[in-house]
Amino acid sequence: MYCMRCGVELQKGVEKCPLCSLRVWHPDLTEEKEPAPYPRYTEPETVSQEGLLFLVSFLFALPLLICLLVDLRLNGVVTWSGYVCFGLLAAYVCLCLPLWFRRRNPVIFFPVAMTALLGLALYVSLKTGGRWFLPFAFPVGGALLLLTEAMIVLLRYTVGEQRHRALYILGGGFIALGGLCVLIEFLLHVAFGLPMLWWSLYPLTVLFLLGLLLSIIGLCPPLRRSLHKKFFI
Ligand SMILES: [Zn+2]
Repeated sequence: MYCMRCGVELQKGVEKCPLCSLRVWHPDLTEEKEPAPYPRYTEPETVSQEGLLFLVSFLFALPLLICLLVDLRLNGVVTWSGYVCFGLLAAYVCLCLPLWFRRRNPVIFFPVAMTALLGLALYVSLKTGGRWFLPFAFPVGGALLLLTEAMIVLLRYTVGEQRHRALYILGGGFIALGGLCVLIEFLLHVAFGLPMLWWSLYPLTVLFLLGLLLSIIGLCPPLRRSLHKKFFI
């Protein structure tokens, strides 16, 4: 038996041509169904993500506990193992915590990860007696957090179909990042007494030009179209 439209050979008992979907009908043929020539679709077996996450959490917890116990046994107090514990906790918060959630929103997880890293910096600063957390790590980390968070929120909630808006946002982000370089040099000067050599003006210039270029591309539709055709972006 063959399909009337496309001529493909048909299995007995099929109701539609598998190629062109034409209904099969023949008055002389009795309907008797053969098993389908291909296996039924079955859901592929997946490894349970929760199980995997428990395993990864265990792999984080095990060295943490071992270090803590060894340190306590040798020194009686928490000395070097504190760094290991805080480091592992910060890494866990940054890398594994988001995986526990089905819908991962970077608007929420990025500040959480940055806070964990700042917590680690605070611990190291307190333990080493260095007073660099408040005058340096906190303002730099805070500025980086605010800048990146603003970019994530803007990119996520204002771009939508208007994809060229992403160019303004990225452009603005680059320029702000250049400003952050100047802030870093200034804070290094204030906190550690390093001389102001104005090296930060080089990254500022490069980032400013890059940001300006992106904004110009965003502003000029013909330029955007020609770039789109050339580079498929
Ligand atoms: Zn057909």
